[in-house]
Amino acid sequence: MRVANLAGRLVLIDARGHAVDVEGASGGRFAAEPQAVFTRWADFRAWASATELPAGEPFDPRDLGSPVPQPRQVLAVGLNYRDHAAESGFGVPDTLPPVFTKFASSITGPVSEVVVPEGGHTDWEVELVAVIGADARNVPESEAWSHVAGLTGGQDLSERITQLQGVSAQFSLGKSLPGFTPMGPWLVTPDEFADPDDVEVSCSVNGEQVQKSRTAQLIFSVPRLVAELSAVLPLLAGDVLFTGTPGGVGMGRDPQRWLAPGDVLVSRVEGIGELRQTFTAPPPAASS
Ligand code: ZN
Repeated sequence: MRVANLAGRLVLIDARGHAVDVEGASGGRFAAEPQAVFTRWADFRAWASATELPAGEPFDPRDLGSPVPQPRQVLAVGLNYRDHAAESGFGVPDTLPPVFTKFASSITGPVSEVVVPEGGHTDWEVELVAVIGADARNVPESEAWSHVAGLTGGQDLSERITQLQGVSAQFSLGKSLPGFTPMGPWLVTPDEFADPDDVEVSCSVNGEQVQKSRTAQLIFSVPRLVAELSAVLPLLAGDVLFTGTPGGVGMGRDPQRWLAPGDVLVSRVEGIGELRQTFTAPPPAASS
């Protein structure tokens, strides 16, 4: 099952790639607001699998919002692939890797324009994103997938100067500039994957591939992250978990490379789809 946010309304994506409005198809049983469905996820899945859906409508991917537009918590994990930990100058973590948030105001849909801050070092990080479908507290690893509504693609865009300056790192701030958390194009339920623990993630800048790996290479898998994080705090239905990025970010290259106005970043997650970010210069300051 594929679930999306089309112009602020919850839709199912049918086999032809067309959108079926959920509020309409369910006769109002499920609300149009995309975030609300995650607190009724089991009901929603049961309804969707038992219902003959009407024909969907074609749509423009630019009208997609984040499939998870207003999570109560965004948890993001750093240094969760060996090659990225190495290029960042760290060893392989044997305890839970660094966990930070991406503030919710930075969330956008999968096709967007992003302003590159002037004088910044703006970097890419393609990631698999897991979305929580049932409140999770002290969930064992073996039961973790049943608390995941589905998977989507994400970019953990990062402003490295803001992220790394100061007496201690500022991961959350440096990764939360406007537009720095695109997600999508839709959420795909775990049953749709041959193996939800082994999914290819990749991205390219202006057509040149810069990252490519598989989530089987995660040091802490999705189930292990759900187990370890839910032992510390409750994960709530509709929360978002950015699982970490593989090697190949701009910071780890020699010479280092940063995103600039005019660059186009295309990120792909196998079995889900594509995100496309176009970078622009800040608007000129208002003159008097
Ligand atoms: Zn990241």
